[in-house]
Amino acid sequence: MTYVVTENCVRCKFMDCVEVCPVDCFYAGENFLVINPDECIDCGVCEPECPAEAIVPDSDDSAASWAELNAKYAALWPNITRKGTAPADAEDWKDKPNKRELLSSEPHKD
Ligand code: SF4
Ligand code: SF4
Repeated sequence: MTYVVTENCVRCKFMDCVEVCPVDCFYAGENFLVINPDECIDCGVCEPECPAEAIVPDSDDSAASWAELNAKYAALWPNITRKGTAPADAEDWKDKPNKRELLSSEPHKD
């Protein structure tokens, strides 16, 4: 089992999650983060830290289609361990539905 980042994270990137992960298994895209399922130790610490409630266990119904996406991009995107600056409009996007199509496949750039 692993934890999975889901749709609510798109364009949010508050990144409160990355600082609490004991094994640094978050990977960053341009407007989304993913968890590497091979590295996650299933501790659950990140779940309550996410202000967008985007992190769920992979046993959760809402995780289904996102688990594969997390595994795919964890192999392509850079590891991230420090909270960066969230986009200026992150708060506006926090509770918006149907953000999946806005997910960028580009990696995070400093
Ligand atoms: S805190 Fe939640 S919404 Fe923000 S970057 Fe982490 S997983 Fe995404
Ligand atoms: S459940 Fe634990 S190990 Fe897995 S991503 Fe969250 S903080 Fe990291």
